[in-house]
Amino acid sequence: MNTWLLKPGELSLKGGNRKSFEDVLKRNLLAMLNKAKPGMARIEFRSGRFFVHGAEEDSAAIENVLSRLIGISGWAKTHAYPKTAEDVMRACVAEGEKIHAAGIGTFKIEARRTDKSFPLDSYALRSKGGEVVLDAVPGLKVDVHHPEAIIQIEIREKAYVYSNARKGLRGLPVGTAGRGLLLLSGGIDSPVAGFLMASRGMGIDAVHFHAYPYTSAEARSKVIRLAEILGSYCMGIRLYVVGFTKVQMRIKETSPLPWSTVLLRMAMMDCAEQIARRVKSKCIITGESLSQVASQTIENINCTQSGITIPVLRPLIGMDKESIIRKAEYIGTYKTSIEPYEDCCVLFSPPHPILCGDPVEASRLYQALELKPLIEQALADCEKINI
Ligand code: ATP
Ligand code: MG
Repeated sequence: MNTWLLKPGELSLKGGNRKSFEDVLKRNLLAMLNKAKPGMARIEFRSGRFFVHGAEEDSAAIENVLSRLIGISGWAKTHAYPKTAEDVMRACVAEGEKIHAAGIGTFKIEARRTDKSFPLDSYALRSKGGEVVLDAVPGLKVDVHHPEAIIQIEIREKAYVYSNARKGLRGLPVGTAGRGLLLLSGGIDSPVAGFLMASRGMGIDAVHFHAYPYTSAEARSKVIRLAEILGSYCMGIRLYVVGFTKVQMRIKETSPLPWSTVLLRMAMMDCAEQIARRVKSKCIITGESLSQVASQTIENINCTQSGITIPVLRPLIGMDKESIIRKAEYIGTYKTSIEPYEDCCVLFSPPHPILCGDPVEASRLYQALELKPLIEQALADCEKINI
């Protein structure tokens, strides 16, 4: 039986609410483990740490869950050792041998003692641990400033020693900050926007607009796959797929061409707000980044949100494309996002789009489109997919 030790992240900052944050984290962890393989692991929560117990053969599946769990700052595979100084020192030597065999030359020891009855305090654990490792593993050196590996000792209800601590996704457990409705295109940006809000504890619903038959079935399947990847971090997603062909045709046929993208965005926001109200999402989330494209200048952003009465969150607003791409690679959506299927926006995008739309003019043009019945129909025909 193996044990994984998990450190809750920002939770430690929460005062009176802390327990409810821990409960959500526990619920998410259990649900993710059981989804990977029912009954695969047992979890335990003691004095500020989560412990996952599971079999060696399930290690990869358990670690896959831990690497996707929002709300922990780090985790490590470890063993529970008897709480004697000899056992702990023996475990330190074993870790020293392991890191040396992996080609590591420098280390330091970190120690934490929550059980104050243990005879060695954290200072003594560090110095004695360092000493026994140096004696037993020639070739290893101590470097307290820039060690290649850290051997960690935790003296709790049992003793834990490990050297393979991994960084967690940090943030707050999904489900502690309400729900938001993500405008999910098939592009690079919007899945990252959803991930960032999930990292702040927000549950994610998503809406995708397509213009079938101008957009393909492949484009739709791509969006579903993106929602699946995103959903693996945020406890699933309710995805609403809305046909917007008639809305787009109306805009194309009756509005000044330079305005078409801004008006389409306004229609998306309008429709999204209605879905958000129905499904009790508290805000709209988009992947907009300031001035990335013509429809995302500050003036045009002002046009697209006019008339919307719930908050519109744009977590990427100050990020450059390079950083967004890096984040997309990190969460695993990038490869899918760059598959070459057209988004409905691109299909009707004008050669010379308006750059600095006036919100009064935007509202006037939008009203003149009389989209209400078309949007109502689109909502009535909307497809719901539970991911
Ligand atoms: P992305 O990678 O998110 O597609 P982008 O750079 O292509 O970003 P735009 O196409 O201008 O940006 O879209 C801006 C935002 O509008 C998107 O991030 C997304 O939130 C929303 N959006 C665009 N197209 C759609 C769509 N077909 N369905 C739902 N939301 C959309
Ligand atoms: Mg897009």
